[in-house]
Order: sequence, then C-alpha cells, then structure tokens
Amino acid sequence: MQRVKDNHILAINSGSSSLKIALFRMDKKETVDLSARVERIGLSGCHFRIKDGKGRVLFEEHQRLRDHDAAINKFLKWLQKRKTPLAAVGHRVVNGGLNYDLPELITPRMEKALIGLEPLDPDHLPQELKAIKAVRRFYPELTQVACFDTAFHRHMPDIAQWYPLPRELWREGIRRYGFHGLSYEYLIHEIKRVAGAKAARGRVIIAHLGNGASMAAIRGGKSMDTTMGFTPTGGLMMGTRSGDLDPGVILYLLREKFMPLPAVSDLVNHRSGLLGVSGISSDLRDLVAQKTKNPHALEAIELFCYQARKFVGALAGVLGGLDTLIFTAGIGENMPRIRRRICQRLDFLGIHLDPALNERNAEVISRSGSQVTVRVMKTNEELMIARHTRSLLRH
Ligand code: AMP
Repeated sequence: MQRVKDNHILAINSGSSSLKIALFRMDKKETVDLSARVERIGLSGCHFRIKDGKGRVLFEEHQRLRDHDAAINKFLKWLQKRKTPLAAVGHRVVNGGLNYDLPELITPRMEKALIGLEPLDPDHLPQELKAIKAVRRFYPELTQVACFDTAFHRHMPDIAQWYPLPRELWREGIRRYGFHGLSYEYLIHEIKRVAGAKAARGRVIIAHLGNGASMAAIRGGKSMDTTMGFTPTGGLMMGTRSGDLDPGVILYLLREKFMPLPAVSDLVNHRSGLLGVSGISSDLRDLVAQKTKNPHALEAIELFCYQARKFVGALAGVLGGLDTLIFTAGIGENMPRIRRRICQRLDFLGIHLDPALNERNAEVISRSGSQVTVRVMKTNEELMIARHTRSLLRH
C-alpha cells in the first residue's frame, strides 16, 4: 500500500488547445491551493495564468507556447521551485477504449495500452501521454492516475453503444463511447448533495454546454445514453466541432472535393460548429454581441439552441420522461437567454422556466410546481480527478 505523506493532489486536464491544472489540498474542504490555465496553445494569443486559492494572479504570460509539452513543462518548472509537496497527480484521459471503465494507477503497461488507443483520439491522447511523461521527468517517484472521460458511459446499455454497422466493426471497438464523463460524474454527486439521493437516482439530463458540448441521459446515477459517440466530434454542434453529420457529407468531401484527411479533420474539428455557421467566432458571447448586426451570428445561435432542444427531447425519450434537467459549463452556467431558447418549446415535457430565476443564474431556475426541476450547476472536472486520485492512493 502506498504511504500518503501529504494530501496535495494535482489534477491535469488537457484539452485540444488548452490546459487546466488545479492543485487541491484534499482535506474535508477539498481546498484549491493553485489553479493554472493555458489557452490557445500553439496559436497566437496564447495566455498562461496561475492563480492562488484566493484568485490572486501569481504568474501571467502572453507568450506563444509551441505545444502542450512546452505548457506543462513551464508549469511544472514553476511548481517545483515552490517546493510544494505532492501526494499524486491525476490526469484526465479522454478515451479509455474498451478496457478502462474506472480510474487506474498509471503503469508502463497502461501507457503502452494508451499508445495503442491513440488512433481513437489523435487530437487528445498524444498530449495526455506527453503530460504523463513530463510529470515523470519532474517527479520520477510520484504516483500518477488516469481518469477516463469515457468511463462513466462505458456500461451504457449496448443499444446506446451500437452503430448500425457490420458486427466486426463493433468487436473492433467502433462504437459509441461518450465523453465528458468526469463532468457528469461530478454533477451526479452534486445533485445528491444539494437535492438528495432520490433526485440523483431519478431521470436526469445533464447538458454540458461549453466549447465542447454534450448531453447525457442518466437514470439510477448511471449513463443510459449520451450525444457524443465514437469521438468528441459527434453529437450536438459545438464551438468549432460539427457534431453529428450524415456520413455522406464526408464521402462527398473526399470524392468531389478531393479533400485530404487532415483537411477533413480540421474542417469538422476546428472550422465548424458556431464558428463555421457564423463565420465570426466559436465563442457564443461574441455571437450574442453581434446578433443584431450580423444575421449569421443569429443563425449560429439559433441552430445551437435548436439542436440542444432536439437532443433534450431525444434523451427524455430514452429515459421515458424527465425529473431533472441540469445546465452546466460556460454556456450552461452563464447564459440565461440561451437556456431560455433551448427550453422554449419543451413545456410538453414538463419543463417550465421561471424567467426571473433563470435571468439571475439561480440554483433552481424552473417555476415552483414545474414537473421537471431545472438547475444551473457548476461543474468541476479537476475536483473529480483529484477525488479519484485520492481514493486510489487509499487502496
Ligand atoms: P467552457 O468550454 O466551459 O469554458 O465554455 C466556453 C463557452 O461558454 C464559450 O462559448 C463562451 O462564450 C461561453 N461563456 C459564456 N459566459 C461565460 C463565462 N462567464 N465564462 C466562461 N465562458 C462563458
């Protein structure tokens, strides 16, 4: 059994062009001692900021960082100088494939297995493996834990995992995995804390609407279905990702436009979604600011809300009704008008928003007596990583 000398746990969450890190003191209060955020890695406008637990900026830089390796190295160098003792590091790993359905200690064997999974997510897994290696360079003895974003959905009913493709592709692992699992798992614990076990066990849809966006249908605390599928490109349209497309669209691009593979990947991952439809920005705040001047900004907002509404309807069908709807992440937590638009025609499901509560991002934004309780909740993937990491250290 590992002896835990300290309760400081570092949680590392690498996105495709961002890096979020938090250092927690895992006492009863689960205090954040430090948080770091690097945005626009490898791009112009790169921004690196480290804050202390009180939100005071300890380090800030607007210098272009080549890649995730450069970003994580910079952070770890800074951290090592502070001589903060660490008990362990937990990483968000986007895809655990067929075999990983729980967080696990990182071993050479697992790293090898993750290299084998790189084809499933060439946009994220290589960065995450580099982060693991970088931590080992700075802290060779430190325990590292992998927390898989797919784990929460790994035991969705088969029917939610199938694609209507030949059987051999299913056996090979071409199936609907689902993502944002750490966010969903955290929020299910939160629902239990704020609304009780009965609400957490009920029929819940969580709408994680950020730059990456997905929804999950949850019953008995377990994932029944989700909008993302084989990769985080699928499902609901996002900031720059297309979400679901007719496969014929990709075939057309290959056949008629002779688009090479990297160009197709760039199109569906980085040039579509809100950015593609508006031609302006992937950031919904920018689009709201321009919606009266630019009809394409308004169309992008409308398409996003329309798709979100459609998925709420579909997932309510999976659950056979709905008790709780949760809005979370950047858009879900902060944009009342978007929530209102999404919920606009969902009164037939028992969703009735209270306009005043919604406008002030209240905890509960549904009318009293509404059949469905609609909540706004803050997600915290980093804390979920730290909790998993701590519990593995204890075993
Ligand atoms: P996320 O990926 O969770 O950081 O969410 C980013 C998205 O949330 C962008 O489309 C932002 O425009 C939108 N957003 C709206 N209000 C806020 C806010 N106060 N903070 C962060 N993101 C916000």
